[in-house]
Amino acid sequence: MQTHNLGYPRIGSHRELKKASEQYWAGKITAQQLMQTGSHIRLYNWQLQKDAGLDLVPCNDFSFYDQVLDTCLMTGAIPVRYHDLMQEKQLPYIDLLFAMARGYQQNGFDITAMEMTKWFDTNYHYIVPEFTAGQQFTLFNLKALHEFNEAKRHGIPAKPVLLGPVSFLLLGKEKEEGFHRIDLLNKLLPVYIDLLTQLEEAGAYYVQLDEPCLSLNLSDHERQAFTKAYQEIRSKTQLKIILASYFECYGENLPTVLRLPVQVLHLDLVRCPSQLEDILDTDIARSKLILSLGVVDGRNIWKNNFETSLAVIHQAVSRLGADRIWIAPSCSLLHVPCDLALETNEQVLTPAVRQWLAFARQKIEEVITLKQLASGETDDTLNARLRENIQANSNRAASLLIHNAAVKARTAAITDKDATRNSVFSIRKKRQQDVLQLPLFPTTTIGSFPQTTEVRSWRARWKKGELTQQQYDDLIAGETEASIRWQEETGIDVLVHGEFERNDMVEYFGEQLEGFAFTQNGWVQSYGSRCVKPPVIYGDVSRTTPMTIRWTSYAQSLTHMPVKGMLTGPVTILQWSFVRNDQPRSETCTQIALAIRDEVTDLEKAGIRVIQIDEPAIREGLPLRKENWKAYLDWAVRAFRIAAAGVKDETQIHTHMCYSEFNDIIRHIADMDADVITIECSRSQMELLDAFAAFSYPNDIGPGVYDIHSPRVPSRQEMVQLMEKARAVLPAAQLWVNPDCGLKTRGWNETRAALVEMVNAAKELRQTL
Ligand code: GLN
Ligand code: ZN
Repeated sequence: MQTHNLGYPRIGSHRELKKASEQYWAGKITAQQLMQTGSHIRLYNWQLQKDAGLDLVPCNDFSFYDQVLDTCLMTGAIPVRYHDLMQEKQLPYIDLLFAMARGYQQNGFDITAMEMTKWFDTNYHYIVPEFTAGQQFTLFNLKALHEFNEAKRHGIPAKPVLLGPVSFLLLGKEKEEGFHRIDLLNKLLPVYIDLLTQLEEAGAYYVQLDEPCLSLNLSDHERQAFTKAYQEIRSKTQLKIILASYFECYGENLPTVLRLPVQVLHLDLVRCPSQLEDILDTDIARSKLILSLGVVDGRNIWKNNFETSLAVIHQAVSRLGADRIWIAPSCSLLHVPCDLALETNEQVLTPAVRQWLAFARQKIEEVITLKQLASGETDDTLNARLRENIQANSNRAASLLIHNAAVKARTAAITDKDATRNSVFSIRKKRQQDVLQLPLFPTTTIGSFPQTTEVRSWRARWKKGELTQQQYDDLIAGETEASIRWQEETGIDVLVHGEFERNDMVEYFGEQLEGFAFTQNGWVQSYGSRCVKPPVIYGDVSRTTPMTIRWTSYAQSLTHMPVKGMLTGPVTILQWSFVRNDQPRSETCTQIALAIRDEVTDLEKAGIRVIQIDEPAIREGLPLRKENWKAYLDWAVRAFRIAAAGVKDETQIHTHMCYSEFNDIIRHIADMDADVITIECSRSQMELLDAFAAFSYPNDIGPGVYDIHSPRVPSRQEMVQLMEKARAVLPAAQLWVNPDCGLKTRGWNETRAALVEMVNAAKELRQTL
């Protein structure tokens, strides 16, 4: 029995990579210093995994930005717009990489970055490869080989990790018409084979090829590409291939997968426990295939349950023999924080909750302990570890911290009526209009206003105790008042308080809800140098005190105009947290929905007439396989409805969604039945609205009329034109005028100028009616 790991977090336990990259971009350290940080992190990670006793340690899982971008560079898939940088500028490799990731605006060049998108259903973002019909591939970069040699020099039993050729193609995009990227496989394979041959010559024995697209619904043509690729690779190299997919079952791809000529097949048994039996039921026993059992959760922070994992391992061993079984995390550990040992502040993470957790380093130890226990080793330390694990899991199951009978009773008692507004939209719309008296094309914003360095410094100083609560509150009050006054003067119709008191749209609520824990150092890479620190939902969620009433009603007290209360929706809170694994996600989501519902009704009681429940993460929560979409959308939409439906007809509920593809979920978006939905839209030139138009979406819509991602101030005319486009596909009476989301990342100057123009644009539109 062997142990291996699919990938280790690359940001460094203290976010060394983030800090060094940002210093390098700011010109404060040299490329050589940045490279040094990279090799320190790699060595630290390798040594840690080797010392823990791991048989095969991943290499080439490190990246200065993203492993898919690295694969573009490896295969020479460098879009034409960067070629001048290479030829004319002779840009060093690392600068070329960052130019592709972040764009390049220097020395007379102005080259856009490559697109970025979410890595499957994680919060990690990868760079989307760009392919053309005449795409050529060359072995352009040998990072994989260099890192293998580097590991070897340090005496690490290293296993190179590469993104497999078929997933690499599938994850990319065609940049011109007339071909399918999968048809580039013939041209791509020689590059992979060249590299694999060099790795083999350098002494590699196993290589891990990640093909996570095997977790998706594939066409026959796509499935055949896998067969072709792996037969070709087999015929050209002696390297032993570990084929890894994760995040889902192999599903209907399994028969194809089982016939691929690979030595080791990795199974994500956390996301898909049932597939082990499916596989053991086939005639696999007669082959030589080794199974890598991904039993330690690489996507979540909970301590493994040794008893459950051992039962799974024993089942596989009894069928195939121990030498055909490997133990591993379910996927790369990129998606969990580095090291629980760094959580030393008991005020932040209490020992009671901490004892239930395992981060990357602890997960490696779990993998090794599982192998030792499964192999029948016994000694005092091992016995103690097993006892400790059983203890932690059983006290978690029974803990009073987790279980709140009142919450469970309340979710069990929810009826359809609780998830339904009193009247249908057409009636609500009239009643709301009687109260709100809004003009046509009403104007509003998405919630936040600029979080200036000053505002952020107040919060930092208050947290450090340098400002008293009173002083901090006074400053926030001043900022809120200024924003209300300014919105009144500008003539915005539905105002917002500005969210100055909030650090992050999930953390702010999590900190005030029961059932949430936070870490000091639980950082996870989101993209490039950007890291997030997701809250941990460990127990039944409830709201014991109002969370937003104070600042919302303060803002409302300053003006006669309606101020929109601003909440984060249940699905988004769930999606951007580490979620408990001892009950279905739907159950946790419903609990959060009830907490938000209480806040919504309290806002109404406090005289707030418009309430926005942000749900930017609805779409990203979609399961990877289409057959699971319906179940998810049913509970996700219901959670939103539960949160929203506690109010009177007169109270107007808004929701907001960031840029996403709405076509295939529009029916469900309509089912949420928000009175108004604002969507991030301007980048698509209003094309996103087509989905709403085609569906005859009944409720009101505010398509974003300007892109807030750039400091550029749009002209009134541009915004009028965009709204004209909207009006061409939807009735004017349904339309709102608002910017895209994220004003908190902008400065006040451009925000003010742009919103003045936006209000003028709305006025112009009204005159044309
Ligand atoms: N209310 C939030 C804001 O305006 C919404 C953020 C988001 O769309 N992700 O910043
Ligand atoms: Zn948004």
